[in-house]
Amino acid sequence: MKTLLISNIADLIAYQKNLQETLEKDTRIGLVPTMGALHAGHLSLVRTSKQQNTITIVSIFVNPTQFGPNEDFKQYPRDLQKDLSLCEETGVDVVFAPQVATMYPQRDTICLNPPKNMGYVYEGFVREGHFNGVLAIVLKLFNLIKPHRAYFGQKDAQQLLIIKRLVQEFFLPIEIIACPTQRDTDGLALSSRNIYLSSEERKNARKIPQALQTIAKAIEMGETKSAPLLQMGKKALEGIECEYLAICDYELAPLENIQKNASLVLLAAKIGKTRLIDNLWV
Ligand code: AMP
Repeated sequence: MKTLLISNIADLIAYQKNLQETLEKDTRIGLVPTMGALHAGHLSLVRTSKQQNTITIVSIFVNPTQFGPNEDFKQYPRDLQKDLSLCEETGVDVVFAPQVATMYPQRDTICLNPPKNMGYVYEGFVREGHFNGVLAIVLKLFNLIKPHRAYFGQKDAQQLLIIKRLVQEFFLPIEIIACPTQRDTDGLALSSRNIYLSSEERKNARKIPQALQTIAKAIEMGETKSAPLLQMGKKALEGIECEYLAICDYELAPLENIQKNASLVLLAAKIGKTRLIDNLWV
């Protein structure tokens, strides 16, 4: 089956109208929002959506409003043809890949703020305005595509938790499905930004998953206090620039003690010019 490429809103609405007229009542639409440069992490979300829904739609849009002025919006990898063939191989029904002007037709726009406690710490602190941009684009995609389920990676833990809040607070009839982080053989979480790394940097980047594994092992051995866990993690990160390493609950509040099934270890580090994030759901 060929993947249908849609890039404007009129075509998307026509597609949906046709879908409603021709498909059964129990048809379910799964949405996988991405910024493209697809890798096996994205495709694992697609596969989960395909198992759970009748139709799987992947959106590919490098969202300018979630990038800060000094970030990599311009350099961000873009290869729609390659993404399309990956989607086709994986059995994606529709790729929605709009232009910036399609998604942001107004200059002066309504701004959605994340909750104060969740949206201005960690990623939201380092990347000012990041979650305003994420919330805007995700709400637009939800309203346009009207999925029953939407798939997000645990790799972007803070994003996942804030989107769950969006759905809950605005009574959106969408189920958010969290999907586990996919890793390369050396443990590094797959990311579209990994291609920025030189081979030397790539070796150094392994310290990120290693630090998280060290913490995970200590937790398994019974350590529950955040302070020694963070100390172990920091030691494992020596030699790379750690932006933050923190233990918090699912509302992003710092924790002195780990609580099983309710804690996160969040990590952001810079390897050369490349910023990478990773985490551990405890
Ligand atoms: P992005 O294209 O980076 O915006 O990512 C699109 C979606 O894929 C987000 O929900 C990410 O959390 C998810 N994702 C990115 N990398 C991974 C990974 N390594 N494993 C699982 N999900 C991922």
